[in-house]
Amino acid sequence: MIELHILGTASARPTSSRSVSGSVFACPEGLVVIDAGEGFQMRYSRQRSRMKKEGEPSTLRPNRIVAIALTHGHLDHTWGLLPFLQTLSLDGRQQSLTVYGPTSPAILDILETDGIDARLPEGTASAELLNQYRAWFGLGGTSSNLGYEVRWLLGDPKSNRWVEFCEDASNLVWHDAMPQPEAFTSFRMDAIPTQHSVPSCAWQLSRKKRKGSFDREKATVAGLSQEERKMLSEGVDVERKGGKVFEASQFRGPSRPAISMVVSGDTAEQSIQPVAPVTVLIHEATFLDNASEKADAHLHSTASGAARTAMNCNAQHLILTHFSARLRDVQEALSEAKEVLGNSCGLETANDGDRVRIDEDGYATFLKASASGWVQHNLSHH
Ligand SMILES: [Zn+2]
Ligand SMILES: [Zn+2]
Repeated sequence: MIELHILGTASARPTSSRSVSGSVFACPEGLVVIDAGEGFQMRYSRQRSRMKKEGEPSTLRPNRIVAIALTHGHLDHTWGLLPFLQTLSLDGRQQSLTVYGPTSPAILDILETDGIDARLPEGTASAELLNQYRAWFGLGGTSSNLGYEVRWLLGDPKSNRWVEFCEDASNLVWHDAMPQPEAFTSFRMDAIPTQHSVPSCAWQLSRKKRKGSFDREKATVAGLSQEERKMLSEGVDVERKGGKVFEASQFRGPSRPAISMVVSGDTAEQSIQPVAPVTVLIHEATFLDNASEKADAHLHSTASGAARTAMNCNAQHLILTHFSARLRDVQEALSEAKEVLGNSCGLETANDGDRVRIDEDGYATFLKASASGWVQHNLSHH
């Protein structure tokens, strides 16, 4: 089972009920924090207490965090990162974690030619992540200051070229492809290029289709030899001397489908090209159709634009988030998206604290935060 905790659903300006961006992806191999806007650590710990209070499994233990993945450098997505790392340090964390963030090819080029102290080209956006990484290093965000290893990576999602700040940010190491979190073996994460006013990406967390498991009990009942079992489990049919045949397929449980979530960050519509089938797309919907020009000008999406993106990438389900403080009623966003989607795709709007879950068979459930725990909505009814 995989799950996403959506802990902030406002756009840049928070409201009384919506905080800025930040989500936590949970899978059996660990947790990935996706964006950490201002106050992220408070929201994280509140979600944990809430899970505990409702008797939910303690999957959000901070020592399970393997990575923090940023979608872009705007502060509503990043400003809570360093305080969060510092709290992990105060909690006595030992495990290493990796921070990932997107930058431009131009920034990578100057780092490659001029080295770690390269001067930023004139006109670089103040929200450039290299700027922020440097500020965070200066404010104590290095492995020796924090007491646990933090691998800092910056990369260009398009070319998949990545650079790592090593030895307390005194040295650069280059990677031809984005290194996966060390704990990930069957899961993987990929930076999907998006379109925004600064370098940006969506994050896809996925697991491939898996073969069903070998049915040992059936093999025992059938009285198979060790060698016959081995053949069947490797997919080879067994034919005995007398002509009796055992088919490998009959000793396999049902296969498990590929599952994935894509979390968008800020982006213009229809820019997401996922690397694996999308079970659930969590997409920004800053504006309504009446502000579509504004959405285009600032490279944000409308609710209907998010729906077009979902159609384009064949997402089975769409969750809308990152709402403008001006939006009075999310029902409007919902109906504009619904207009585009019809019944082809499950659809919900997110509030802070909501969860999205995909089980082993690929079925998705939306868990809406309420005063008393979470209320389940089945997304997979069509
Ligand atoms: Zn934003
Ligand atoms: Zn932004």
